[in-house]
Amino acid sequence: MGTRQFPKIKSVRALCQQGSGGDQGADCHDVQDNHWLNCGLAPIATPMGFHPQYAGTRKSWGINVLGTLAVEIEAEDGTVGVGVTIGGEPGCYIVEKHLSRFVEGQDPRNVELIWDQMFRATINYGRKGLPIQAISAVDLALWDLLGKLRNEPVYALLGGKTKDRLPVYSTTGRPDIAQKLGFVGAKIACCHGPSEGDEGLRKNIEFFKGWREKVGPNFPLSLDCYMALSVPYASRLARELEPYGLKWIEEFLPPDNYDGYKQVRKNLRGSNVLLTTGEHEYTRYGFQQLLESRCVDIIQPDITWLGGLTEARRVVAMASAYDTLVIPHGSSVYSYHLQYAFQNCPLAEYINMSAKSDTIVPYFGGLFPDEPLPENGFIDLPDRPGFGVTLKKDNLSRPYARSEEDSKRQAEANINRALPTKPVFPF
Ligand SMILES: [Mg+2]
Repeated sequence: MGTRQFPKIKSVRALCQQGSGGDQGADCHDVQDNHWLNCGLAPIATPMGFHPQYAGTRKSWGINVLGTLAVEIEAEDGTVGVGVTIGGEPGCYIVEKHLSRFVEGQDPRNVELIWDQMFRATINYGRKGLPIQAISAVDLALWDLLGKLRNEPVYALLGGKTKDRLPVYSTTGRPDIAQKLGFVGAKIACCHGPSEGDEGLRKNIEFFKGWREKVGPNFPLSLDCYMALSVPYASRLARELEPYGLKWIEEFLPPDNYDGYKQVRKNLRGSNVLLTTGEHEYTRYGFQQLLESRCVDIIQPDITWLGGLTEARRVVAMASAYDTLVIPHGSSVYSYHLQYAFQNCPLAEYINMSAKSDTIVPYFGGLFPDEPLPENGFIDLPDRPGFGVTLKKDNLSRPYARSEEDSKRQAEANINRALPTKPVFPF
């Protein structure tokens, strides 16, 4: 008797929201103008703060320009897996015109093979950013499909649960409300960057101190600096905020400034403030640089950006060898399943996507009406296959739709690929 047969993959479809109208979806930046993440409650420092024209709001420089990318992968038996990321129409182009050829006709269990082919084939224009985000959405759709085909949640496919319940902290404009809602800690955004000088630094300290007074001494409070600072500024700010119980200072430098991260680590020797970064880092090669230099205590990959689950589990394994914690950025169910499955992922992030940070709403907006939400400081996953969420397609379109014939042709190229006939010693 043979083992169970799996259907092959029939088609890959890439969907996006046409135009970005503050409709959020999978793009956590694409919020309404008065939203706290667009500086509606307080200023938020960004790398564009050095250019006064764009220092006002995050949307003024186009942080939300890409919007949602959703990928559907359909198996021959009609089962559909879904993955989402940022990427919009350019992401759709990459998935349909390039990545789909490595997926259609494949056995959906071959996640490693498909990932490797997508990565190698995009090296000439990829490695970081949009092409890896597109790969991420395809990879997540594959895992979702596999879970549905096997009728198991994704964490079970990864090796089962390492914890019974997953605690969650909130990134928010209102730490006082996060505390009342039961989150185990909160993270606020740094308001001012180096271009605003000493006065901005003083305002940053007052801002943090104000929230510390409101939430009391025992509620973990961190600061997200969204790539906006410099080595001396970040070092000084962390020192100044340590007496107010700064738990961690996050992403204080642009991600390519690996040397700067090492320097801040040196400057803060002896401090109790934890250093974190990684939401804009990509693949195991990027995270290797952060881990090897031990410049941060916690890495924060976004599972919908860094390369999907296939790459995330490699990064998590690598981090465990360096005794470094992985506390992923946002990414909702895609993070939660990973975090349940691996011991060194002890805490989830919930980014409060309500405009005033005062209610708990789905991270992915209206994309997944059944997205599980944090309650009393925990994320509990429902007993559903795959990632356990259902894509609402009302506002999505498929700008680079291919015909069934196109998919069939690509599928046949994979199904009928020639097997090796002559073994080679591969060195
Ligand atoms: Mg962050």
